[in-house]
Amino acid sequence: MRLTGPVTPRAGIVVTGTEVLTGRVRDRNGPWLSDRLLELGVDLAHITICGDRPRDIEAQLRFLADQGVDMILTSGGLGPTADDMTVEVVARFSGRRLVLDEALEERIGEILRPLMKRFRYWDPEAVRAANRKQALIPEGAEVIDPVGTAPGLVVPGSPVVVVLPGPPRELQPMWEVALATDAVQAAIAARTRYTQRTMRLFGLPESALAETLREAESRIHGFDRLEITTCLRGGELEVVSRLEPDATAAYEALAAFVGDRHPRELYSTDGTRIDDLVAEALAGRRVATAESCTAGLLAARLTERAGASEYVAGGAVVYSNRSKTQLLGVDPRLIEEHGAVSEPVAEAMARGALGRFEADTAAAVTGIAGPGGGTPDKPVGTVCWCVRLGDGRSLTRTLLLPGGRSDIRERSTTVAMHLLHRLLSGGGDDAP
Ligand code: ATP
Ligand code: MG
Repeated sequence: MRLTGPVTPRAGIVVTGTEVLTGRVRDRNGPWLSDRLLELGVDLAHITICGDRPRDIEAQLRFLADQGVDMILTSGGLGPTADDMTVEVVARFSGRRLVLDEALEERIGEILRPLMKRFRYWDPEAVRAANRKQALIPEGAEVIDPVGTAPGLVVPGSPVVVVLPGPPRELQPMWEVALATDAVQAAIAARTRYTQRTMRLFGLPESALAETLREAESRIHGFDRLEITTCLRGGELEVVSRLEPDATAAYEALAAFVGDRHPRELYSTDGTRIDDLVAEALAGRRVATAESCTAGLLAARLTERAGASEYVAGGAVVYSNRSKTQLLGVDPRLIEEHGAVSEPVAEAMARGALGRFEADTAAAVTGIAGPGGGTPDKPVGTVCWCVRLGDGRSLTRTLLLPGGRSDIRERSTTVAMHLLHRLLSGGGDDAP
């Protein structure tokens, strides 16, 4: 969907690193920079990924320049070792000589000195050579001070090239510094500012959402000013709208429309995640978990938010029938009669967790995440949940989840979070 407005500057991102290309390290810089560009109103044309090969890096720079982008951001390859070649390639690409920046050499030396004291076996000569390599910059480039040891660069030109290091904790603060430079500000001058708003839905098929959005298109004034993308993630639907600030009313109208159509499924219109809502609802309570197929993932997720140490009492991971009985007091006859993956057992696990951890809120999951654990009437993906409060209210569910082991585990955890939220915000199957 094309947005109207002033000419929008375009940018491209070149992510370098053989470890990223091969998937050993998941790219975190492309998505992070993409978000920053979006906030700035810069249109991101491409993110390309290549290994640490100069010819490949150069080819990507040329490709992006051919697309007419105003700015290229590169990530990685700034280290002292021979396979870190980005600066050399960028210099060649922008037709600038490499020159030694003596002040920079001195600064890198200062950063390395205390490190060298800690690692006594470093060869001082090798360190000096490496230090010098990192102080070679394309003539006329502006240096971004290192956060680690590698300096970044802003290389003026058309396109302007911003060279950033690979480690995300270094790249992120250095991007903020690069952004403030005149060269970058000039490259992104003629821009429209956008904001991004996120709706989250749980338990709705993508096709139903598509239908709702189709209807919204003809009913909501200003719908065409929202650039909407939807994505399915771990059983949740995420609807992201990019809009200019004066199109906020259209977004609000859309959120209201979606909420009207899917009141149970739409749980967030401001991007809040289920984890935040559950954390909020648990304040002042004591929650315990009893998990089988999720191996503690639910406990891990519940403890991620600030304040969790106050409201998470503890959890048990119980795979064998014996541990279900010994640790949570599940009656072995229940397991015998209904099977370990069954609603009665999930309920007994939740009761057990409430009692053993002296909690007032409990969530239990038991399921078959496979592979190989399924039976004809309970195939892989069969999962039962029970969430229960001290006052006796509870919710029990069984679903057949698609996917492999990690999908099933992740989805099971998400479902448990939503059941907890539903119960804590007043829903429940049974009267106390
Ligand atoms: P260094 O001085 O640390 O070598 P560098 O700029 O040369 O800096 P790289 O060698 O490309 O950075 O990457 C160093 C490490 O940073 C990688 O091994 C990886 O752990 C992390 N890293 C690099 N690029 C990315 C990325 N795109 N996403 C996430 N992590 C990354
Ligand atoms: Mg490196």
